[in-house]
Amino acid sequence: MDVKIIETKTPKELPDDSKLGFGRLFSDHMFNMDYNPEQDWHNARIESYAPIIMDPATMVLHYGQTIFEGLKAYRTSNEKIQLFRPDENMARFNRSARLMCIPQIDEAFVLHALKKLVSIDKEWVPRAPETSLYVRPTIIAMDHYLGVRPSNTYRLFIILSPVGAYYPEGFNPVTIWVTDKYVRTVRGGLGEAKTAANYAASLYGAEVAKKAGYTQVLWLDAIEQRYIEEVGTMNILFVINGELVTPPLGGNILAGITRDSVLTLARDWNIPAAERPITIDEVMAAHKDGSLQEIFGSGTAAVISPVSHLAWQDQVLTVGDGGVGPMAQRFYEAITDIQYGRAEDPFGWIVPVDEA
Ligand SMILES: *Cc1c(COP(=O)(O)O)cnc(C)c1O
Repeated sequence: MDVKIIETKTPKELPDDSKLGFGRLFSDHMFNMDYNPEQDWHNARIESYAPIIMDPATMVLHYGQTIFEGLKAYRTSNEKIQLFRPDENMARFNRSARLMCIPQIDEAFVLHALKKLVSIDKEWVPRAPETSLYVRPTIIAMDHYLGVRPSNTYRLFIILSPVGAYYPEGFNPVTIWVTDKYVRTVRGGLGEAKTAANYAASLYGAEVAKKAGYTQVLWLDAIEQRYIEEVGTMNILFVINGELVTPPLGGNILAGITRDSVLTLARDWNIPAAERPITIDEVMAAHKDGSLQEIFGSGTAAVISPVSHLAWQDQVLTVGDGGVGPMAQRFYEAITDIQYGRAEDPFGWIVPVDEA
């Protein structure tokens, strides 16, 4: 299958690199592809960024059968555009698809189309330090039908959004609120899938946390409400007694590519790293005896997000001195240096976007 290209006749004005923010602006083009059982995935095309006109009975609007991915394109100092581990995003897209009863995609083809799209809109990859072009592949259920079952037809689209530096004034630690009242996912549920339902389930708890003065929620397991799972859109890591500890991928949490990159680097640097269940009680006890050194989140948007404060029941704990720990700093620098081509890529994580 080929990607048909219909260039836009109404290019937009490029935004100012210093005013980007996150997820508010979109580039000139988008990729679209449709699915039906007779034709499989077909009609792959890059065309003007435009609204998707939908029948009000379109299934995605009612039953949330949808999945997405998130990755970034980076501009190097010598004007190359590159992606970070995009093959992992494609593989996860298909894992999410399986859980959501969405037909599998040809990972190599969608990655090819994604690169083509980024290449066509390469002027939208910003140049200011630590900025990038966020790439959002999505699949939505398109049947017009009121009744709960998997759809027969789908739309896959990819849109691009230039994004600003996450930490324009340097690393800014976040505060997190641990809840035993609200839950995000449960064993046997959708926690592993990047699907709308998980974010819908997180909204109410996140609002309660915000009202209490915290940036994000840390979710515990839904059954015992003891085991730590993850934060909003980030995985979570702890440094206890020099060891990096993060919850295992047991089905409830998203298999973050940044999380995997951190673990890979830790092993490469001979830092002990364990993927094992960790309870909130263990974290509180480690803080009490002085062995809790750092807490940080990992995800594509922020890369590494140091946690300064953690609130659990009636206690508020300050992590270390409330600043940025040395491990968080080291992982952040190592990963962003690879992403922006400032350092060698010993793990083969970088995929160049060839000129179209
Ligand atoms: C996307 C996401 C992550 C982070 O994954 P990365 O691949 O590192 O960006 C973690 N948790 C949730 C719930 C997510 O949606």
